[in-house]
Amino acid sequence: TWVRPETVENPELLAVSPAALRDLGIEASDTKNPDFIATLAGNKIQGWEDGASSKEVDGADGNKSDAGYPWAQLYGGFQFGQWAGQLGDGRAISLFETTNQAGVRYELQLKGAGLTPYSRFADGKAVLRSSIREFIVSEYLNALGIPSTRALGLVLTPEVKVRRETMEPGAIVSRFAQSWLRIGNFDILRARGERDMIRKLATYVAEDVLGGWEALPARLEDPDKPTSSPEPGRSVARDEVQGPDESAENRFARLYREIVRRNALTVARWQAYGFMNGVLNTDNTSLFGLSIDFGPFAFMDNFDPAYTPNHDDYMLRYSYRNQPSIIWWNLVRLGESLGEVLGAGARVDDPKFVEDGVQEAEADGIIARAEKVILQAGEEYKAVFLAEYKRLMGARLGLRTSRESDFDDLFSSLLDTMEALELDFNLFFRRLGGIRTAHLDTQEAREVKAGLFFPKNDGTNAGAPTPREDEEARKRVGEWLGKWRTRVVEDWGEPEAADEERRAAMRAVNPSFVPRGWVLDEIIRRVEKDGEREVLGRAMRMALHPFEDGWDGRTIAGEEGGEPWKGDKEE
Ligand code: AMP
Ligand code: MG
Ligand code: MG
Repeated sequence: TWVRPETVENPELLAVSPAALRDLGIEASDTKNPDFIATLAGNKIQGWEDGASSKEVDGADGNKSDAGYPWAQLYGGFQFGQWAGQLGDGRAISLFETTNQAGVRYELQLKGAGLTPYSRFADGKAVLRSSIREFIVSEYLNALGIPSTRALGLVLTPEVKVRRETMEPGAIVSRFAQSWLRIGNFDILRARGERDMIRKLATYVAEDVLGGWEALPARLEDPDKPTSSPEPGRSVARDEVQGPDESAENRFARLYREIVRRNALTVARWQAYGFMNGVLNTDNTSLFGLSIDFGPFAFMDNFDPAYTPNHDDYMLRYSYRNQPSIIWWNLVRLGESLGEVLGAGARVDDPKFVEDGVQEAEADGIIARAEKVILQAGEEYKAVFLAEYKRLMGARLGLRTSRESDFDDLFSSLLDTMEALELDFNLFFRRLGGIRTAHLDTQEAREVKAGLFFPKNDGTNAGAPTPREDEEARKRVGEWLGKWRTRVVEDWGEPEAADEERRAAMRAVNPSFVPRGWVLDEIIRRVEKDGEREVLGRAMRMALHPFEDGWDGRTIAGEEGGEPWKGDKEE
C-alpha cells in the first residue's frame, strides 16, 4: 500500500552507522546535507514534490512504484503458535530501493514514521529506547557475520510524544535490507486462498530477490553428509539442478530449500553466539534468512538454555534452546503455504491448473509430494544447521579441524559445565582465547586458570558475579581445559608461535564487545536522561569492531570510567 510518512518538527540526527554509509555508497559529508536528515526523518520523499499526498498518488497512473512513492507491506502471522490474522508494516514505511556499487540492492525503510493502513490499534510510532536497541544490534550482528537487517541512522523526534508506560519522545530508525519479506507474507495469502498471488510472490522471491532460479540449490544427495555448509545463495551441487518442468524436483522446491537453508545458517549462528530474538513469530522470520525485528532480544549472559528474553513468553517457546526448532516450525508453515506449487510439479505451469484449481482426483498426490519436499527440506535444515553450528563452535574454541568426538567431548561438556557453574557464555570464549596452552600443562595449573572464568564483581560488569567458584568448580573447569588443550595441541602443535597464531584466530571470532541488556540500558539512560550524544558514536564503533581488545563497560562510560579492561589478555 502506498503511504507517506508523517512529517515531524525539529528532527535531530543522533547517529549514523559508518558501515551502513559504506555499504549504501553514501559519503560521510552527505550526512551534513539537510536533505539527508529530512529523508531519514520522513519529511522528504526523494523525487517527490514536498506536500504530495497519498491521495494524489492514488489518482496517478500505473507507474506509482517507479515514481518511488513510499509503501508499507501487508502480511499475516502465527504469533506464539496461533494464527493471528492480518498484520503488516504497522510502523515501518519503505522509501525506495537502491543498488550499491557492488550490485547489491537494498530497500530503505523508516521505522516509527507514522501510521499505515496496517497499524491496527497502535500508533505507528517508536520510542527512543527500542530504536537505540535496534540501531546497535542490527549493525552488531552484521559485524559478527550473522545475516541481519541493517540500520543506517537514528533520528530523535522531540516534538512527537509517544504514550507507552509513560510519555516518551519518539524516534525513527532508518533501516535497510536486501529484502523485508517474511514468512508472514505467504501466510496471509494462504489464509485468503490467493493461489495465484502465492505463485506470483514465490516467483518474485526466486527471480528478483534470491538471484534467479538457476541460483537455487538442488537437493542434497545425503543430508547427513553435507559437503560443506553452503553460504546463502550458493548451491551445494549446482550441476544437479533440474529444469523448471521437472516434476518431483520442481523449481518451487528449490526455492523452498534455499529459504530453509538460509534460515538454518542464520539460526546456527545465533546459537553459536548466544543471540535470542525473543519473538520468533512467522512474521518475524525472513525469507532472505536475515535476523529481523528486534524487540525483546538478548545475548546470553550466564549460560542458561531455558532462558527467554521475552517476559510474556511463559511457555519458553522462544527460549534459547527452542530457537532452531521454532524456526523449523515457521518454515513448515511456509511449506504449507507453498504446498500446491511444491506438490503439483509440472502441472503448476498449466494455465488450466491455475484457473481450475486442484481437482479432487489429484489432491492426495499433490499433498503427498509437497509433504515429501518439506520432509526432505527438514533433513537439510538439520544438516546445514549442524554443519554450521559445529564449524562456528570449533572456530570459537580455536580448532582447525573437526572430529566426530568434539561434539560430546568439547561442546556439550562445555555447555553443561557453563550451565551448572553459571558461567558467562561469551566471556568464556574470549578469555579462553587469551590462555596459552603452555600454561595448562598440569591439572593444578589448569585449576588456577579456571579462575579466569569466574568473573569477579570488579567494576567491569563484564559478567555477573557467580557464587560457584569453589574447589569443585575449578576442578571441573580444569578438567575440561585439559581436554581442550589436547585438541588444540593436536591441531596447532606445541611451538609458541603456533599458539600465538591460535590465540589471534580466537580473538578474531570471539567478540570482546557484546551488546548486553545492561550495556544498552546504560547507553539509553545517557542519551535519554543525560542528553549525551557521543556515547552513541562510541557504542556504534564498538558494535562495528566487536573483536577489538579492550571494549567493556568503562569504554562506553568514556573518560570517567577509567582504564579499559584488559581481562582477556593473559598477564
Ligand atoms: P512484532 O511483535 O514487533 O512483530 O509486531 C507485530 C505487528 O504489530 C507488526 O505488524 C507491527 O508492525 C505491529 N506494531 C507493533 N508496534 C506497533 C506500533 N507502535 N504501531 C503500529 N503497529 C505496530
Ligand atoms: Mg514483527
Ligand atoms: Mg517488532
